[in-house]
Amino acid sequence: GGQQTMIGTSIGIALYPGDSEEGEDLVRAADTALYRAKEAGRGTFRFFEAQMDVRLQERRMLERDLRQALAAEQLKVHYQPLADCGGGGMVGFEALVRWNHPERGFISPAQFIPLAEECGLIMPLGAWVLRRACADAATWPDDKLVAVNLSPAQFRHADLAKEILAVLRETGLPPHRLELEVTESLLIDDPDRVLSTLMVLKEAGVRISLDDFGTGYSSLSYLQRFPFDKIKIDRSFVSPMEKNADSMSIIRAVIALGKSLRIKITAEGVETEAQLGLLQQEQCDLVQGYLLGKPMAKADLGKMLAAA
Ligand code: C2E
Ligand code: CA
Ligand code: CA
Repeated sequence: GGQQTMIGTSIGIALYPGDSEEGEDLVRAADTALYRAKEAGRGTFRFFEAQMDVRLQERRMLERDLRQALAAEQLKVHYQPLADCGGGGMVGFEALVRWNHPERGFISPAQFIPLAEECGLIMPLGAWVLRRACADAATWPDDKLVAVNLSPAQFRHADLAKEILAVLRETGLPPHRLELEVTESLLIDDPDRVLSTLMVLKEAGVRISLDDFGTGYSSLSYLQRFPFDKIKIDRSFVSPMEKNADSMSIIRAVIALGKSLRIKITAEGVETEAQLGLLQQEQCDLVQGYLLGKPMAKADLGKMLAAA
């Protein structure tokens, strides 16, 4: 139909009779190797190795458990303060999902979010976190915003903007109190479509924040093409800032960029008074990190807000 399509190839290889003498097992081994080729960034090949099987089994189990966890509401959303850099007051909270596995204990989102993205569970999981976070935020004082992380995979859903706006209506949270955190990697695949989805949300009053700035492909052209409300400087620049003059220069430059583009800058992973002092000196807008507050359960946040 006149449309251009790009096709890529990943290959998994199993060898007869070394990997198996049975047809079905051979195909399964090749499939396992194919999976690893995709994991290695696609467009490549992998030969089957025995230990791949162990890892795959492990992942399948984790995937099954994650499905159950979602159904059984074993997941929780914790909230970490986002504070004003100068005054220290809380402007809002970032929603961070938590999984307390019945046998394995606490599993980090850095581990299960990528898994959820691969097996398609990120759609229901992301929708669940968003609804939970908006419902919780609707009970907070009305000047506090909630920031929710969105995975690139969620943008493959055609009606993402409509869905988010429906959640806002249903939970009664005004759009300007929701901030969506997206990463640069999101803007690589299909920037036009993603930017138009973000624009619909932004026009409805939702704020858009560029997360982990500096770690991805950091193309400054995105800053020109999309009016982000905030940029979050990644922790990997903030942690070494006291000792490393280069990371300090980068932070200073990003803050200056933010000022001239009228985009607010948040520094992530602030752990020491010395870091906070330097950020205040540079007139950074917002800070987040263990120094200001760790992610906490909804009940603890409720107590903190009641005491304030
Ligand atoms: P992120 O969005 O960059 O979130 C900040 C992470 O840094 C959180 O880890 C937070 O606990 C941690 N952190 C905050 N302050 C400090 C600090 O001062 N020092 C140190 N060392 N760490 C700090 P967490 O909760 O383990 O989340 C890891 C990542 O998982 C997040 O990184 C985000 O990319 C992803 N994630 C978490 N929840 C969700 C979610 O609901 N949806 C999606 N799509 N991704 C999520
Ligand atoms: Ca984030
Ligand atoms: Ca981040």
